[in-house]
Amino acid sequence: TVLLSLRGVGKRFANNVTALEGLDMEVRQGEFLSLLGPSGCGKSTALRLIAGLTEPTAGRLDWNGGEATRRTTGPRSIGFVFQEPTLMPWASVFGNVHLPLKLAGIGRREAEPSIAEALEMVGLSGFRDAYPRELSGGMKMRVSIARALVTKPRLLLMDEPFAALDEITRFKLNNDLLEVWRQLGCTIVFVTHSVFESVFLSSRILVFRARPGRVSAELSIDPNQPRD
Ligand code: ADP
Ligand code: ADP
Repeated sequence: TVLLSLRGVGKRFANNVTALEGLDMEVRQGEFLSLLGPSGCGKSTALRLIAGLTEPTAGRLDWNGGEATRRTTGPRSIGFVFQEPTLMPWASVFGNVHLPLKLAGIGRREAEPSIAEALEMVGLSGFRDAYPRELSGGMKMRVSIARALVTKPRLLLMDEPFAALDEITRFKLNNDLLEVWRQLGCTIVFVTHSVFESVFLSSRILVFRARPGRVSAELSIDPNQPRD
């Protein structure tokens, strides 16, 4: 089933840069979808449109069941992971992962099981009292992923999350992210300019062309096919 679709979507910024034009794509329930393409082809813009962080200047974005579905399920049904982990330096790992629940009015005690579960999923159970400055780049990214997962989102959006990491760390995180996706059964939309990463992770890849950005090719990978 289709979770959401973009039809004829365009995005033109105030500086007259047309990041997207005639973008048609859909996100299907439970898939691991990669948006692949060179820098500047509008992948992040497409992701930000899906997240509702910005509005299209042309075309439409429809959620299955209508815009109301998204409103009633609320922002907690979407998790967003940026390229920078953007952690609060003054808060512990526990405190950082607590943030989205805290904003929803859920205190530390009540949030504890969800936080423990999210940290477990990213392999950081032993680090709940550590501070961001004590962590490597890969571990900070794990905290950022745990923070996005703690609300049990229906849809996880990731914008080149591993681009700044060394290859080995990146490969480990790729493996662990696949495990998280299988465990949670959530839908993931993953922006990358790495062909390797998109093929390794995805059940489906949309290749973007640049200026103005839109989908120029689609590649489906059977998610049930054994890979290892
Ligand atoms: P990608 O994620 O594929 O690298 P982006 O979506 O970040 O591409 O950017 C697509 C184009 O839109 C680029 O030329 C970028 O500079 C431009 N752009 C992105 N965001 C803005 C903005 N807020 N204002 C003006 N131009 C922007
Ligand atoms: P990414 O690493 O995803 O490609 P960028 O570094 O291109 O992201 O952009 C980071 C932020 O700056 C985004 O919020 C984007 O919308 C904004 N941005 C990108 N290009 C421009 C631009 N030419 N003018 C104004 N804002 C921009």
